[in-house]
Amino acid sequence: MRIHAIKTGRVQIKKAQIEGRGHGTWRQLQPILSREWADWSPTYAWAIEHPEGVIVVDTGAAAHLKSLPRWHPYFQLAVRFDIDGEQEVGPQLRSRGIGARDVKTVILTHMHIDHDGGLAHFPHSRILVSGEELARTAGIGGAILGYLPKRWPTWFDPKPLTWQAARHGPFARSAPLTKAGDVVAVPTPGHTTSHLSVLVRDGDSEIMLAGDTSYLESTMLRGTVDGVSPNEAEAAATLAAIRELCAQRPTVYLPTHDPESAERLDQLHATVAPRRDAAA
Ligand SMILES: [Zn+2]
Repeated sequence: MRIHAIKTGRVQIKKAQIEGRGHGTWRQLQPILSREWADWSPTYAWAIEHPEGVIVVDTGAAAHLKSLPRWHPYFQLAVRFDIDGEQEVGPQLRSRGIGARDVKTVILTHMHIDHDGGLAHFPHSRILVSGEELARTAGIGGAILGYLPKRWPTWFDPKPLTWQAARHGPFARSAPLTKAGDVVAVPTPGHTTSHLSVLVRDGDSEIMLAGDTSYLESTMLRGTVDGVSPNEAEAAATLAAIRELCAQRPTVYLPTHDPESAERLDQLHATVAPRRDAAA
C-alpha cells in the first residue's frame, strides 16, 4: 500500500496558533492578536493507493483561499495562503497517474478551509465527514467558526461517518474505511470538537494521517495544545491518546502542516519512540 503526500501550497499562521499560549479565551485570541508569524508551513492532502481503490484523506488548500471574507478577523489577521491552481490536489493526483474516477473514497479530518478546499476535484467519490462537524459549519455560527460552506461544490452531499463501538488501540470507537479493515477512522476531538484521524495498518506499524490534531509531531509529544482548540482538556486527552498509540506500536505520525511529515512518510520505517513521560 502506497501513500502519497500531496503538498497543496503553503500557509502561514502565527506561532501562537501552532503552540497555544496561556489558557481559555486568552489562548484562543492570541492567533489573532499576536504579531509573531511562524515560517510558512505545507498543507498536505494524502492519497492511499489501496487494492479496494484510492482513498484521499483531506483535499487540501485551493487557489480560491488567496481571497477570504474581509469581515472575519481570523482571515484578515491570522492566516495567509500561497497556492496556485496547478498545486491543488486534482492536478497533482493526475500527474501521479490517479484520475478522479480512481478515487473511491474521500474522507475529511475536519472541514476547515485548507482541508475541504479541493473538494471540487472529487465529483465521483464517496465523501465521508463527521456528521457533527458538518452540522457545525451551518449558518452564522459556522461562519464565525471560519467554515466556508458556500465555497463547496453544488453537488457536495457528504455521508456522515458512523462510529462503531470497536476499540482501536487507545481509541474507544472507530470506523473501518476498507473491507480489509486495514484503514480506519478514529475520533480525535480537540482542534475541532468532531475532528477525526485516519490510521493505516502497515504490518505491525500504524501510519496516522492526523489532520490538525497538532501542527507538529513535537507539540503532540510534549502535549502542547494549539491556539484554536475550543476545549483544551479534550485536545490534551487526544494528544495523550496518540502518545499511547505510539507506545503500543510503531507509529508514523503525519499531521497536515508539519514540515517534516513528508520526510517521515518517505522513511516509513522510522518510528516514533514510545515516550510515556512526555505528557505536559
Ligand atoms: Zn484546522
